[in-house]
Amino acid sequence: MLELSFNQETVHKLLQASDKPLKAYNILFETQKLGIKSPTQVYRALDKLIELGKVHKIESKNAFVACSKINCSNQNSTFFLICDDCENIIELEDQKITDQLNKTCERYGSKYKNHTIEISGTCSNCN
Ligand SMILES: [Zn+2]
Ligand SMILES: [Zn+2]
Repeated sequence: MLELSFNQETVHKLLQASDKPLKAYNILFETQKLGIKSPTQVYRALDKLIELGKVHKIESKNAFVACSKINCSNQNSTFFLICDDCENIIELEDQKITDQLNKTCERYGSKYKNHTIEISGTCSNCN
């Protein structure tokens, strides 16, 4: 088991407890109450958590979510359904899409390997 540092653990727990993606300044605001002092510490913790596949960045929202899988199988290939109304986020796992994207990317060169697909619309609660 990998040990997270206090800062990483604090940021990760906050994101896990949130049902919405959180922006960096929200994370900073909340974690300052819990003992994290500076934005740099938050950014470092986020970088590490993303590297570990425990947190994903939602590019279209410039925000962060905790990975909803126990062990994200493919952190270079993530798919999200994002509700425009309530900001609910569902993380999908689809090996077929990953494989297809890998094949397509290979045609253009071997260095394209990160896929982030963000699909927006309204969730089943907001329809
Ligand atoms: Zn994940
Ligand atoms: Zn919704």
